Formats: sequence, structure tokens, C-alpha cells
Amino acid sequence: MPAIELYPPERLGQAAAAAGRAGLDALLLAPGPDLRYACGYAAHPSERLTCLAVPASGDPFLVVPRLELPAAQASPAGRAGLEIIPWDETDDPYALVAGRLGRPAAVGLSDRMWALMVLRLRAALPGARQELASAALGPLRARKSPAEVAALAEAARAIDRVHERVPEWLRAGRTEQQVAADIADAILAEGHSQVDFAIVGSGPNAASPHHGASDRVLRAGDAVVVDIGGTMPSGYCSDCTRTYVIGEPGEDLAACYQVLGDAQEAAVAAVRPGIAAQDVDAAAREPITAAGYGAYFVHRTGHGIGLETHEEPYIVAGNTEPLAPGHAFSVEPGIYPGPYGARIEDIVVCTASGGERLNRVTRALVQVPA
Ligand code: ZN
Ligand code: ZN
Ligand code: ZN
Repeated sequence: MPAIELYPPERLGQAAAAAGRAGLDALLLAPGPDLRYACGYAAHPSERLTCLAVPASGDPFLVVPRLELPAAQASPAGRAGLEIIPWDETDDPYALVAGRLGRPAAVGLSDRMWALMVLRLRAALPGARQELASAALGPLRARKSPAEVAALAEAARAIDRVHERVPEWLRAGRTEQQVAADIADAILAEGHSQVDFAIVGSGPNAASPHHGASDRVLRAGDAVVVDIGGTMPSGYCSDCTRTYVIGEPGEDLAACYQVLGDAQEAAVAAVRPGIAAQDVDAAAREPITAAGYGAYFVHRTGHGIGLETHEEPYIVAGNTEPLAPGHAFSVEPGIYPGPYGARIEDIVVCTASGGERLNRVTRALVQVPA
């Protein structure tokens, strides 16, 4: 995927305009997804200040430690002709940023900026009200460009290939951690540059939505919730859950899984431009509640995904934001009655006419030999 399409130079102008609309005089972005989104530079966070300043009017500039100048110049930020200002080990980079900005009344700080930097910027810019850059960048980042949708689809295909191999590793007698280690290797082997999480929740642990992986030994009859994701070299993330069963499913699990599949299908079918995010959540909840499992669906239906695994828009009651083409998010209802649980999760993109799933691996309750 050409970086120029994924991180186009015009992003900086779009970010500046968004800052202005949000009433911010400048965005100050430290290493993380906001900075990468704005200029394509995948800087690594450290105690030395790297900061992309995007004034609402005026030229943006990127302040970097001198030892990281070559990396910044080699990134899309350097190729886009963005001014890059190196600072030396004995310089004060906060004074450098403040001196270039003048006297802003309000600045938007990237949501993941460390407190170390927030407080030093507050001291360097005593007249500036500090707000979150997401007030400006959130709506931009939430609606994906065609290149971003392609990057998410590539990530989805990679994680689908991992799920296709999960039945090889799930066996009675193995531990969740052993299975999770095999999955982590495969997440990298299938093209991700980073493993973000590998949840293997078996038996009673399947009823704990954010379980992780423990030393519990898998047993015949266990439901196993496998929720896995990573970050691709593009910067975009995958996130996909499937539920497996070791040997024959019990009647309870089979009945619950049928309802869950219907709920996931109903929520995906509800996706279209103009529908409120909370109505997609309601579409997932309705069949689950009707079947008597409502109290066991203990989390929101989904979250946006892009450069972060969890970002806007959140598919949750109370979010009245209308969905629009380019919104990309998970649809992941779950039912956790204990001593078993199940979840089905796909990444879905809102298109001009409806919702398109990016994950294609089977959504059936996959039975593996005990
Ligand atoms: Zn989650
Ligand atoms: Zn997930
Ligand atoms: Zn998710």
C-alpha cells in the first residue's frame, strides 16, 4: 500500500482546518496514532519530545530529537516537505515549540501524550488552555478514506488466516497460554508487525470478555472464545473474535450460540448511513434480550478501529451520532452466562448503501476434536 495514499500530504491542511473548527489555535501531537495519522511518521514514544505542531493558520512543523532526525526525514512526513526542526540534547524543546507558536489561547494535545509533556507544555505556554486534539481529529480519523479501508481489509484478511489455523492448536490437555503463544506467532507470520492481544478464554473463562490467557488446561466440552488482533506495517489494526468448542457443544451453548449469531447478523444488517450508532447496538441487543440472555450481554456492541484498536465511533447506547460512509467499527455481541460464554466479532465498514464485513472467516461455532 503506497504510503502517499494512506498518509496523504493534504492531511496536514485537513487537520489545521479541523483545529480551527474546534476552536483550537494549534494541535500539538506527540508520538502515537494522532501524529501518525496527521503526517505518516510512526515515531516511538520516549521521554525526549517529538511534537508535530499544526497551527490552525500558519505552517505546521515537526520538532524531533536530533538523533531521530534521519528517521523523521525518511518517513512520509519528510517526503511531504513538512518542516522538521531538530533539537540537541541540551536544548529545551518545549521552549522551541512555544517560541514558534507565539501566544495561542487554546491548544489541542494528542490524547495519548504523556503527562510529562502535558505539564511541561502547560508551563511553556502558560496562556494556552489545554484541550484534547481528538475534538478536532476524532471525526476525521473516524471516517476512513478508501486507502484506509483497504488497509483495514488487509489487516482483516491477515487475522482471518490466523483464525483459520486456530483449530490446529486447540486441543484438550493444552493450556490457554500455549494456544495463545501459537496464535501470537501466527499473527506475526500472517503479516502483522505487532501482536496487540491474544485472548483465549476457555470454559468458565469464556464468560470473562477481557480474560487474556491463563494456565487453565482445555477440556472436552469447553467453549473457547478467541479474540485476537495485531497492527499491520501500514499502522492499521485487526480485531476478530470467533468461538470454538472442544468436542461436542452442550445444549446450552448450542442454543445460546444460535441467538448470538442472529444478533450479530441483525446488527450488521442494521448498518447504513444515517442510522445512529446506538441503534446498531440496539439491533444486536434485541434478539439477545428476547431470548432471555439480555443480562449476560455486558458490554457495548462495538468500537471504531483504525490506527487504534479502540477509537470512535463507539457502538453503544447513548451514542446518537449517525453513521456515515467510511466509518469502520467492530460488531461484537457476546453472551456470558457462565460457566461458558461466546462472542462473534467482525470489523464492518459503513458504505453508501449499508454495512460491509471485512472479516470473512466462518462465523459458525467451530468444533475441534477433543
Ligand atoms: Zn474488547
Ligand atoms: Zn476483539
Ligand atoms: Zn473489538
